[in-house]
Amino acid sequence: MSETIITWKKCKKCGKLQHPDHLRCLQCKNTEFDTIQSSGECILLTYTILKAPPAEFRDKKAYALGIVEFSNGIRALGQITTTENLKVGMKLKPIFGKLTDNLDGQPVSGILYQPI
Ligand SMILES: [Zn+2]
Repeated sequence: MSETIITWKKCKKCGKLQHPDHLRCLQCKNTEFDTIQSSGECILLTYTILKAPPAEFRDKKAYALGIVEFSNGIRALGQITTTENLKVGMKLKPIFGKLTDNLDGQPVSGILYQPI
């Protein structure tokens, strides 16, 4: 599993950061953006442990979902690689790896956060 990069849009007019799915700036409705990328470590802002996972996560008794923030302001929600010893403010790094198997038994990959 290797380190991976998350891209976000930065509004050229007001500087608001937002997820690439939005076509217009949520703050000022501008449609021109710069692309910015996450890099390096991120900090755990908050997390929760799901003890009754949805069907796709049937192979796990529990898993952790967290919100992380990179030094340039990008925030992301994602699965954390462990449910043990998690602490708000701890450092994590994004990795690309297998999240789970879907209900057809096919592996689903995405970004996970691994404590450093
Ligand atoms: Zn804007």
